Amino acid sequence: MHTVVEALQAIDRTIKPGIPREVPVFQSAGSRAAEPIEACSDSPPFDKALMDGFAVRSQDIQPNVTLRVQERLTAGQVPKLPLSPGVTTQVMTGTQVPDGTDAVVRVEDVNDPEAEELTLSISSLAAGRNVFHRGESMQTGETILKPGELLEFPKIALLAELGVMSVSCFPRPTVSVLATGDELVPANQQPGPGQIRNSNEPMLVAQVANAGGIPQPVGIARDTEEDLREKIATGLESDFLLLSGGVSAGVLDLVPKMLAELGVQQVFHKVQMKPGKPIWFGLRSANPDEGTNACYVFGLPGNPVSSMVCFELFVRRAMARFQKVGGMDLEPLQARLTQPHLVKGDRPVYHPARVSIAGSEVTARPVRWVGSADLRGAAEANGMIAFPPRSDSYEADEFVDAWCWFQR
Ligand code: AMP
Ligand code: MG
Repeated sequence: MHTVVEALQAIDRTIKPGIPREVPVFQSAGSRAAEPIEACSDSPPFDKALMDGFAVRSQDIQPNVTLRVQERLTAGQVPKLPLSPGVTTQVMTGTQVPDGTDAVVRVEDVNDPEAEELTLSISSLAAGRNVFHRGESMQTGETILKPGELLEFPKIALLAELGVMSVSCFPRPTVSVLATGDELVPANQQPGPGQIRNSNEPMLVAQVANAGGIPQPVGIARDTEEDLREKIATGLESDFLLLSGGVSAGVLDLVPKMLAELGVQQVFHKVQMKPGKPIWFGLRSANPDEGTNACYVFGLPGNPVSSMVCFELFVRRAMARFQKVGGMDLEPLQARLTQPHLVKGDRPVYHPARVSIAGSEVTARPVRWVGSADLRGAAEANGMIAFPPRSDSYEADEFVDAWCWFQR
């Protein structure tokens, strides 16, 4: 049986990043940039007013001064005349200011804004006040997007400001989710005797979306070779296929056999951890002659918290590698335990936890949780703690590896 570290290394070796493609900026949210982008112009592109008011030369602002208004401009209009001593131009927020301007007097500081000769209620103004200078926020040639960076609304707005219409991205992986089990009914149906609802599908779909993938639910496969064959074949059309259930040692745990039959090569099966020991990982290589794509396949153990934890530990990393994320972004946090904790058994335990991050302080508290089928307990968690096996208990204030899945 492999250790967690060996399993993670095997994932790193197996996953190849997806081939970058041009994505319209409007559809790029959630993707990661494959190539750097440099600013092709300055921002702002001209000196502009930050306030509604009057463009001035700051040295003109003296006690009891009057200024002659030579032009009145709204946003989008351009000045015709530079400022000379003693004159001013009315501007609105965003208007390009005339040459010679080094400050803008707020309209609130002018006694009668409609007068041709302005008097002011201020007697001085610092140079630079209320003017946003050309290139102050961004200069031509500056790198504004680095490879691997996540495209989200702030960057999308910045690219749009520059007129960038498409961006080279690592593709967000498509991820099929297939639950297996004769006992399962869809979550919107009433279970009969001995049946349970398929809670893994909505959970994994949400985890895939949270990890930046595009979920593709395939439904439930019964524990028969025919049904598994058909539905696994559908799932293999995605970049990733996540199966839940059917990978342990039960009579009808047919998933590894069916995957082998469909050409998926096993990379590992079973990892020394709790929960999640039966996890299976493999690769169906691309075959251009047959028109088949590469697909990375995880057989996640059926118990809900096993599936949840294995997703966060292994699948999330694999999806990140596919988008060429690496380094520190994949490392656990160092969190301070807020209470003592006793671990039993000889396998590392991945215990659902409340993890909070306040500045550089990360703390973690194991939630009350009784094992891999205890969804109620795990539902209080927003992360997990790794507890390597130990005969003594973990003490409060010890540092442990932890993961924060999302901020509460
Ligand atoms: P298995 O790995 O197929 O042996 O399943 C282990 C346990 O997880 C069994 O109690 C199953 O009923 C349960 N289980 C399997 N799949 C699901 C699912 N999709 N949703 C909720 N529980 C499941
Ligand atoms: Mg099963």
